[in-house]
Amino acid sequence: MSEISVFWFRRDLRLQDNKALNKALSSKLKVLCVFIFDNDILNELPEDDARVSFIHDRLRSIDKELKIFGSSLLVLKGKPIDVWKTLLQQYKIKQVYVNKDYEPYARKRDKDIEKLLLEAGSSFISFKDQVIHEENDVLKADGTPYTVFTPYKRKWLELYKSVQPEGLSDSSNFLGDVHDFPTLESIGFKRSLIEVRAYDLSKLNEYQEKRDFPDADITSYLSPHLRFGTISVRQIIEQLGEKDETFLSELIWREFFMQILYHFPKVVTNNFKQKYDGVVWLNNKEDFKKWCEGKTGYPMVDAGMRQLNETGYMHNRVRMITAGFLCKHLLIDWKWGEAYFAKKLLDYDLSANNGNWQWAAGTGCDAAPYFRIFNPIEQLKKFDKNLEYVKQWIPEFGTSDYPLPMVEHKFARKRALETYKVGLEGV
Ligand code: FAD
Repeated sequence: MSEISVFWFRRDLRLQDNKALNKALSSKLKVLCVFIFDNDILNELPEDDARVSFIHDRLRSIDKELKIFGSSLLVLKGKPIDVWKTLLQQYKIKQVYVNKDYEPYARKRDKDIEKLLLEAGSSFISFKDQVIHEENDVLKADGTPYTVFTPYKRKWLELYKSVQPEGLSDSSNFLGDVHDFPTLESIGFKRSLIEVRAYDLSKLNEYQEKRDFPDADITSYLSPHLRFGTISVRQIIEQLGEKDETFLSELIWREFFMQILYHFPKVVTNNFKQKYDGVVWLNNKEDFKKWCEGKTGYPMVDAGMRQLNETGYMHNRVRMITAGFLCKHLLIDWKWGEAYFAKKLLDYDLSANNGNWQWAAGTGCDAAPYFRIFNPIEQLKKFDKNLEYVKQWIPEFGTSDYPLPMVEHKFARKRALETYKVGLEGV
């Protein structure tokens, strides 16, 4: 049996401009491509989870492309550490190539697998691919991480160097090993009715002006693609012009929250700002249910929640409004909302979801001050004044079937201010 390299697909489901894959292909050894469905993650998901369908589709495309090169993708399922133990018995693995993953769970998983590989005389080599600047690339002069976005962004831009995206380097180096591609059913799942939209950069000329208006529908829909790496972030940024600064800023927010999660993993379970720990949430389950179902009686909130439930997507402005409403108007712990979004969003990403939820709750690193409470009625007047978005998602809007507001805005605002104030004084 000859020695081989293995490339392990994770959040980088593409063959083009894939850092670690290209490195593996230039390693001189034949390259086996592997994907592992992680049981610990799958067990948490419903059988028609839309993200699993999307991943499966992408893997099938990759497998088809690899078959053109006389190779294929080996798709496995299990606990990653156990799968690697088996692979080590089946193949003579010299090196395993991966693109770095920055989430706490993935870091621990990778550390354990690296140890296993080292013990077996093999090595684990990781590359920066998911981001332009990773955790320690953009630091303050004193070497500590930024916790405020604007200076982080300034430094990020200062350090940015244009890089030409790479194609696929040497396709003759794939291992000529042909495996059957598993069906979704054989992994224990079935096809979801919800699909990921293709991303679209053609309306970026209107981005600056219209990005906050949900009915304009001009944002890029890039988020699930960046989440699963079906396109590289380098390739996107290389296509931008000077006029796309606002859009680039959003991509920098993505990396800002990624480095926050990396340096402050406590945010997964705790407020970034400890001084908010004393806020006593009401956590009323019936109120939460109304919010989840889009039956609060506040049209902008309800339209957003229904868009999320039906499509797995919600416009960013509306995410801010629905999140603010849950935390401030209903005084429900941001972690409940975060968990609901995590279940439903096609683009669910721990760092962005956590960072933005903590922003909305006022507990985050560079968050809106707690006393800035969105008025959902004013937000509707400002961002959907012709009610186009609302009518699209709430068919019974304007009829007696649509509920009355579940809580009065003025009352809720006052209650939130008092609760936060008392909470802050208590810590
Ligand atoms: P565009 O406006 O076209 O933006 C381009 C890209 O920039 C996005 O695809 C995304 O990668 C990045 N981006 C934009 N806004 C943000 C932001 N505020 N924070 C971080 N990255 C950003 N985004 C996720 O990718 N995953 C999440 O789980 C997630 N949860 C969120 C939860 C809340 C409460 C809020 C307020 C925002 C959340 N966002 C999340 C950020 C943002 O809403 C989405 O990235 C955006 O709506 C995706 O649509 P788009 O690709 O059309 O965005």
